[in-house]
Amino acid sequence: MNNKYKILLIEDEENIRKFVTALLEVHGYQVLTAKTAEGGISMFSSYLPDLVILDLGLPDKDGTECLQEIRKSFTTPCIVLSARSGEADKVEALDMGANDYVTKPFGSAELLARVRGLLRTNSPRAKEGKLPEGKFETGELVMDYDARKVFLSGAEIHLTQTEFNIVALLSAHFGKVLTYSTIIREIWGYSDMGSIKKLQVNMANIRRKLGIKPGDDRFISNELGVGYRMHADGE
Ligand code: CA
Repeated sequence: MNNKYKILLIEDEENIRKFVTALLEVHGYQVLTAKTAEGGISMFSSYLPDLVILDLGLPDKDGTECLQEIRKSFTTPCIVLSARSGEADKVEALDMGANDYVTKPFGSAELLARVRGLLRTNSPRAKEGKLPEGKFETGELVMDYDARKVFLSGAEIHLTQTEFNIVALLSAHFGKVLTYSTIIREIWGYSDMGSIKKLQVNMANIRRKLGIKPGDDRFISNELGVGYRMHADGE
């Protein structure tokens, strides 16, 4: 029986297609490929992959059209491959339902970390409830969702209610970039881009309390102009 994760790669550049296919196969994934948006959509409906890696610049249609088509009926995690350096494109792709993005040129370790992170956070167990319950642990960081407490190397870190909610939200979407507007909507219940400042102030306090020095990416990284991501130490 084949119980490998199925990944659909939609990419027209042959070099990248070959490189990513070989990389994923070596790491135990089954890879399906398509060179066009239309081909990708048809492969998607025939094989229902566990994850999609999607190039934005495709010959027949824009990759975001593929994304919209998939999102009509499926929540399958999608990683966008973007050669575009503009932050607006990344935000647009994330807001259209992409779970993550990788900017070309990218390294093998980076892509594999994104794939692992998404397959982990989209596992049926992670999808069950909206509110995280029980405990979450990554490296030295432990969150007790029920008691609303955070521990670092065994010592309790005192966070405000809002700070706790932000860390809980990021950890519930471990490995995934959450855009500023998504975080603001989830935490404060409204989308007001003026409150990015409020989010940044809270995030600065969280980082200070967790002992993360400026410029350091430990546990939480700021994807400049896009949002925040919680990740394992060293990823
Ligand atoms: Ca392309």
